[in-house]
Formats: sequence, structure tokens, C-alpha cells
Amino acid sequence: FSSNELRVQGTKMLNLIGDIYDNLDQIPVYPNIKLYDLKSQISEEPPQEGSSFDEILEETKNKFVPAITHWQHPKFFAYFPSSISHPTILADMFASTFHSPAFTWNASPAHTELEYVVVDWIAKMLDLPPQYQLKNSGGGAISVSTSDSYHLAAHAAKLRKINQMKLDPLSPEILKFSSYVFEHTFNTVEKALRIKDINYIRNIPVYFDEQKKNFIPDMAKLEAQIEEDVKNGLHPFFISATYGTTPTCANDPFDQIIALSKKYGMWLNLDCAYAGTTWVCPEYRSLRPDNLLNEVDSLQINFAKLGMVGNVGTLTYVQDKKTFTSAFKKDQGFEITKNAYSGSGDAVDAKDWMIGFGRRWNALKFYYNLKAFGVKGYQEHIRSKSQLAKRFQEYIEKSDRFELFSENLYTLVTFKLKTFKENQNQNDINKKLKELLDKNTLEGYVTPSNIAGIYFFRFVVCNPNTTEQHVDEFWQYLNKCTDQLIREYQ
Ligand code: PLP
Repeated sequence: FSSNELRVQGTKMLNLIGDIYDNLDQIPVYPNIKLYDLKSQISEEPPQEGSSFDEILEETKNKFVPAITHWQHPKFFAYFPSSISHPTILADMFASTFHSPAFTWNASPAHTELEYVVVDWIAKMLDLPPQYQLKNSGGGAISVSTSDSYHLAAHAAKLRKINQMKLDPLSPEILKFSSYVFEHTFNTVEKALRIKDINYIRNIPVYFDEQKKNFIPDMAKLEAQIEEDVKNGLHPFFISATYGTTPTCANDPFDQIIALSKKYGMWLNLDCAYAGTTWVCPEYRSLRPDNLLNEVDSLQINFAKLGMVGNVGTLTYVQDKKTFTSAFKKDQGFEITKNAYSGSGDAVDAKDWMIGFGRRWNALKFYYNLKAFGVKGYQEHIRSKSQLAKRFQEYIEKSDRFELFSENLYTLVTFKLKTFKENQNQNDINKKLKELLDKNTLEGYVTPSNIAGIYFFRFVVCNPNTTEQHVDEFWQYLNKCTDQLIREYQ
């Protein structure tokens, strides 16, 4: 594959990408295929001979594209959409061109220093307290995902507790470490704790708070559980709070959580995977209590969701990088990681912020986006997506067919269809509506959720290319399917 071929095929490929983006709203969001439809079109044996790149491109266009769930489709309103901008696509090309595992500063200075730059830029752009900047006591790094970052937090927390209690690494007291999550905490926090061999993972239920119109963890139950655990000789060491939960974008009661984490010496992790990006707009910082970020030990913000960098896009931030990175520094006798700057402690080495060793140049995606859009561009993006969600919310509020499910913040709207006949089961008609909606995802795609047995829809806008027209067309389609549903029940 010569450089000339790279130019020729690369040009074709970029044209194809442009065409795909220009025509995305002409294809369904969700592919109309069955399990292994794609796999069955591909030989089970690896190819013995190489093919022309033209053939590979054709195969991509004709076989792969129709089997994709199009997360970049302007009518993709499902999950928390993982959004990508065009500068991200271009940065990814350079990330491959200049590929380096960049585990230490000298494994590639540019990779390392650019990550330093974007970590501090984003800390400033989101108005995190100054200690979160790498040039100060804390800082951050790009992690593989939010879920991976929980592992880092759980590991650092465990080591901190072992050190605080001056325990021998084999002490049976470590088996008595206890941790606390909530019913709406993202479930991979529990997974991280299980992988860390934590025997006591308490999952505290949530309830619907009529005033907040959202689901809030039961703080009395949390406190009672911690007290009982302590009485039984356990050692609380970790608690994870969420700023913008996945099902309904609720905020946990931070003041009470902070008080408990301080009282019992727990590491406080704050998951802001989706909602943290909104802090780029000053008006969205009001739900973030002033003291919150001064009390948190680690936090995650995933710029894949509203931040247009796609996966890998999670930033892990800490206030105390010495404690955090000491959990991952394993340099003794490893000659290849030694270099003058790292040894002096001045350099930021990526390997000290992760479980693995090498990484991709993901900082370039952040850098390109920030340069291309600026803070103002990001503010416009978030405000415009919030306005689109508001537009949809107003349609729901004005309609006598639908009702909101919970308070809606930022770019999420939770809603369900009201019953339209006596003795109707609301879940059943909403499930039926979902079946009808999915018959033509050219018109849009939403995913449901279920809390305490109540089935509802989550409509989320994150993609940079979603416009009022896309929202309006989905609203019309939703009503068309509802008309059909009503007819079917007559
Ligand atoms: N945390 C929250 C609040 C989420 O909503 C999600 C996914 O939507 C995650 C974590 C998982 O993020 P990741 O895929 O980066 O692990």
C-alpha cells in the first residue's frame, strides 16, 4: 500500500464519508436486519490473498453501512447519543498517522504535552476549581471510558484506605472494606468494585421526590446502612455520586453525601459522564453546588456524549494527583520507562493515569474540536441542543396524549403516552407504541427505560447536526404512530 495509493484511496474515502453524512437522514437510524445477517455475508475463513482497497470500500459501503445503528444520524435520540464532529474524524486520521503508544513523555512528547494542554483547557472551560489543573495539585487524563475510570477511582480509593489504616497488604481487614452506590448509579461502578474484590457493595434505593420531580436516593437508608456496617466492623471506603443520572438526569443529594463521605473517611467519586459537559455554559453551573468540586476525590466527564469527540472521550479529574497516580506508578527496574524528565517528577506520564500502558492519541480529538469551535462554539452547541430538547418537551406538555415522566434537564426529555381507554395498562400501550415507532426508524429512534415497573421513553439530543426540522419530523411521526395505535384499539 504505497503513499500514492493512500492519497487516492483516502480521497475516495473522504468523499464517501462526506456523501454518507450528506445523506444520513435518508437512511434508517436502526438497521433492518436480523442476527448475523451481516456475518453470514462474510467468509468464515480469513482471506488468503489480499484484495484491492476498492473492493474493501465497496464492501464497507454495501454490507457494513446498512448494518450500522447510526449514532451520528440527526434523528438518533436514543440512550445518551455518542456524538462526533468532523474535526474528530480528521483528528482520528492524524492519530493513526502519528500513532505512538505514548506511555511516557519521551515515548512521544507531542502526545503527552497535548494531553496536558487539553486537560487544563477543559478544567478552565468547565470552571473546575484551580486545583483540578495539572499545573496545580491535581489534574486529569483521558481514560478509556467512564467505566474504566471507575476502576481507577476504586483502586486509588482502596490503596488510600489501606495506607490511612496502616494495614498490611494481606490484612484480613481489607476484606471488610465497604462501598456505597445508588439504584441509579451507572451499573459499571458496581462492576469496578467487584473486580477490585470488594465484598460489601451496598446499593441504596431511590424514590420519586415530588418536589424535585425526580428520583433521589434514600439518604436515611444510606446513613442507616453505613452506621450498621461500621457497627459490624466494616470499613466504609468508597461512595459514588452522580451528577445527571442515566435514566432521568437527576442529581444526587450532594451535601448529605459529602457529609457522610467526610464523616467516614470515604473516597468520593462523582460521575458527571453526560451532564458535566454542560458546565461549559455558565448558566448550567447553578445545579453544581459551590463546594461540591472541592470535596470530590475523583470525577468523570465523558466528552463522547455532548462533547463531540466520540469514544474515547472520558476525562478523569482528581484534586490530588500524587495520591491518585501513586496507585498506578510501577517503575522500579523497568528500564524502558526511565527518562530524565519522568525521573525528576516533572513530566506527566500517561502510564501513571491508567491500568494499561499504551494509549491512542485521543488528546488530538479534544484539541482539534476546541480549536475548531472554541469555547463559544461549544456553548452554542450545548445551548442549541438544549433548545431542541425544550422544543420537544413543549410539544409533550401541550399535547393531551402524552405526559412528562420526570423533571428534564439539558438535552433529555422523559415522557410516556397516556392511556386513552378505560382500564388500559399504560406500560402495554407504550410498549406497543415502541414497536410501531421501530417499524420506520428513518423518522427517528428513541430508547425506553423502566423505573419501578414504569415504562417510559427517553428522548435525547446530542448530535451536532440535529435541527428543529428533525425534531419536528420525529414529533409528527410519534403522533402518526399514536394515531395508528388508537385506531387499532378501537
Ligand atoms: N455514567 C453515566 C451517568 C452514563 O450515562 C453512562 C452511559 O451512558 C456511563 C457512565 C457509561 O459511560 P462509558 O460508556 O464511558 O463507560
